[in-house]
Amino acid sequence: MPERLFVCTPSKLGAYADCPRRYRYSYVDRPAPPKGPPWAHNSLGASVHNALKNWYALPADRRRPEALPTLLKGTWVREGYRDDEQERDAYRRALAWLESYVDTLEPGADPVGVERVVAVKTAVLAFNGRADRIDARPGPAGPELVIVDYKTGRAGLDADDARGSQALALYAYAAERVFRRPCRRVELHHLPTGTVAAHEHTPESLARQVARAEDTARDIMAAERAVADGADADEAFPTTPGPRCGWCDYRRTCPAGAEAPGKEPWAALERPTGPAPDAG
Ligand code: SF4
Repeated sequence: MPERLFVCTPSKLGAYADCPRRYRYSYVDRPAPPKGPPWAHNSLGASVHNALKNWYALPADRRRPEALPTLLKGTWVREGYRDDEQERDAYRRALAWLESYVDTLEPGADPVGVERVVAVKTAVLAFNGRADRIDARPGPAGPELVIVDYKTGRAGLDADDARGSQALALYAYAAERVFRRPCRRVELHHLPTGTVAAHEHTPESLARQVARAEDTARDIMAAERAVADGADADEAFPTTPGPRCGWCDYRRTCPAGAEAPGKEPWAALERPTGPAPDAG
């Protein structure tokens, strides 16, 4: 019998790579342990992502900055803020980011995909993921695809972040196969600073990222099999305590997390730099 493919998204692989125990709480334990309260930075990220999605749903001649307040109000997620004043401040900030950002977009240009799901199978993985945007841009041998990922979190994204992002590489690998067009360039669009961090992959660098994702998938399947065969689930999915525990949804459930100082749900808004989680 061929081995079952590991069905995954970038967040599923990322959860295990960050902390096997967090992976277990999210994807294995049923019922799943309760999560902590919603995070304001996630609300802000989701609001901005959805406003940009709806921007592209407008006819090209209605994509004007005046449309942004309505779009943002329509997608605004209220959860996690300290109070109304902080939420209003975040809304004003988000609107200003969007106004500056749409100013940089080519008028009337329609991406190949917006919030587009791309899926691909390898020998080990059945991967699917939702890319924020897939652009078509002229290349030396015809149009090439570009993966665009919006970021609203911590400052300081650079080419290394774009190069190292397994999610972006997997989107590129999948998009190239779904659309049958080259897709090597990946870009992180950081709205708060208006900067773009980019990386040009090669077929080899994409293959390396896929191989790494497959290694992670094999580790996950081995851990799941071990538990099914009677191994201690705590040993099969160990904790990896570190600074990210403060931001972990399962801090209250996890024995290692209980020792980490918790963050207020709005803490990442007040701390724009440093190892705060990415919002989006
Ligand atoms: S609190 Fe830390 S160690 Fe525990 S699951 Fe979350 S990230 Fe892992």
